[in-house]
This record gives sequence, C-alpha cells and structure tokens, in this order.
Amino acid sequence: MAILSMRCIFCLEERPGSEEHIFPLAIGGCITTNRVCEACNSLLGSRVDAALSDFFPVRTRRAELGLAGNSGTPPPKYEMLLGVAKLAEYPGRRVQTMINKDTGKLDIRALHHASDVVMPDGSKGRQIIIDERDIGELPKIIQRERKRHGVPPLSDEQLAAEVLKASQNIVRIDNPAVHIELSVSFAYLRHAMMKIAYELAFLWLGESYLDDPSAVELRAAICAPDVASTDEIPGYVGDAGGCDAFKHWTEDKNHHIAFAMVGNGGIGLAIRVFDIYAAIVWITKDAARYLTGGDLNSVLRFLSIEPVSGKIRNVPFNEELARIAIAIVEAQRATYSETTSE
Ligand SMILES: [Zn+2]
Repeated sequence: MAILSMRCIFCLEERPGSEEHIFPLAIGGCITTNRVCEACNSLLGSRVDAALSDFFPVRTRRAELGLAGNSGTPPPKYEMLLGVAKLAEYPGRRVQTMINKDTGKLDIRALHHASDVVMPDGSKGRQIIIDERDIGELPKIIQRERKRHGVPPLSDEQLAAEVLKASQNIVRIDNPAVHIELSVSFAYLRHAMMKIAYELAFLWLGESYLDDPSAVELRAAICAPDVASTDEIPGYVGDAGGCDAFKHWTEDKNHHIAFAMVGNGGIGLAIRVFDIYAAIVWITKDAARYLTGGDLNSVLRFLSIEPVSGKIRNVPFNEELARIAIAIVEAQRATYSETTSE
C-alpha cells in the first residue's frame, strides 16, 4: 500500500503524514490530524508538546486522572513531592516523604540524624534523632555511632535503658509542614499553546489558512528552537484562573476547551488545558477572508474534550452559547421556584 503524501502544515514539504494529536496525547487530547510529517511531529513533540504535558501542574493532574499517553503508564501520584524535604518548624531536620502503601496517602518520616551536643554537666555527648517508628533500629544505630567514635559498645541492659529513655522522650508533630524545593519550567509552554491554536486554526479555517500572514508568523515562531521565538506573537498565554474567557466552563475543570471568536476584524482562539493553563491567540487579522460568503458555523467552532472518557463536544460556538444561556435560565428558574415554594 502506498503511503499518501500530503503538504505538512509546519515544514510545508510534500511528505507522508503521521498521526498528530492537536492537544497532546499525554493529556488525553483525542482530536487528531494527519497533516504533520513524521519529522515535524517527532521534533515538535519532544520540544514543544512535552513542555506542556510535563509542566508541573499539568503533570500532577495527569497523575490524578491516570492519563497515560504514549508511555502507557500515567505519572506516579505526588511524584514531585517524594524525596527528602525539610521540616518547616525545624529547618535543620530532614524528613523523607513517601507514599504509604496502606493508605495511599503521603507519609512523612524523620530521617535519622546524629549531632554533637554539650550535656547539662558540660560533658560532650551525641544526640540521635530518629522517627518514632524506627525505634527498633535504635540499638543498632547507637552501637554504630559508638564504634565510629571509638567508644566501646553498650551492654544489652544499657541499650534497653537507652531505648526506654528514648521512648519517654518522643516529640510528636501533628500534620507537620514540610518545605520541598520544586523547579518548574515554563520554557516552550507558550510554543505549546500556540501550536494547539495553529493546528485548530488550520482545522477550522481550511487549507487557505496556510498562506495567511498570521499563519506564516505563528508557524515560524512555533518551529524555531529559540525559546523566546513566540514572545512577539500577540495574545495571552498563562494561568487559566486569570482568563475570564472561560467563566462558563469553570465546572468542567478537567476538560480541554477551545473556541473561536471574532474581534477587531480578526479571529481569536481561546484555548484552555484543564483549568490550569490558557491562551488567547489571534490566528488571523483578516476575519472577512474566512467569514464572507462562507459557513460561519464551520469556522467559529467550540470544542470540549473530556480526557478520561474521551468524550468530545465539537459544535458551532453559537450552539454552545445557546446551551449555556438555557442552563443559566433554568438555574435561575430553579432558584425562583425554591424561593416561592417557601
Ligand atoms: Zn513537516
């Protein structure tokens, strides 16, 4: 069977197409196009799509929802929180954070810590701090510390006395606060959101969009390896909470949403990834080019993807607005009848 060639929407070369997920597969983006060549797909996948899928809050949501993507296994829950951390109240004390196998919740365990101290009588001593649950290890730790410092081991009776003393000297901290240092990368996130916008623009505006001056600019910026290359492209990219455009869909916090709107003679796309990251990208300055004499409903679309079930709502934006208006009226009517039935 011959593989059909097509014109890749990124490099514009005639090449065999590959399956490209418009919202990355790793976040459950189940809308695809076959208009991206293998080379562009793999290059942009690793540089651009991965920046979004592995962006800390997005990766955490993928873990919560169990979204596996390409690799077949979702990121482990709390993975960023696991490791060695510091106790907020006692910054010198280090703790190990891990998942408790029985409860599935985050567990914090004090790491064994020994330090030189001056005893009340002025003599030098060695203080050992361990987690209460490790008290059974204490005799071994004491003997190891003594050996290391060249003092003779304790007898079994002396060890038992030390364990008794330790068990009477337990400091319990309920719900301890811990400091964990995270590094979160924002690199190529702007590219990733603009890439979704560009691909949707192609899907909704059609073949002729590839020659639109705004498409030329967007494409060049997305494909450039320079991390700042998309900075000059106008539009909002950032926290979804700061983006009023999605106020009607705040309930659908795990959905990916996109819709097209007309403004200032151009067409803008509003895109939201979960309720985490959002963008408004002006995909063309010339709305008339696509709307005059054309089918408004095929250009001004609304798309909602529910990543866990794979459910897609792909309708004219007008239809979605009508659905929202009806829902608002019904909610008001329900409140009204509640008040009047008193
Ligand atoms: Zn290509």
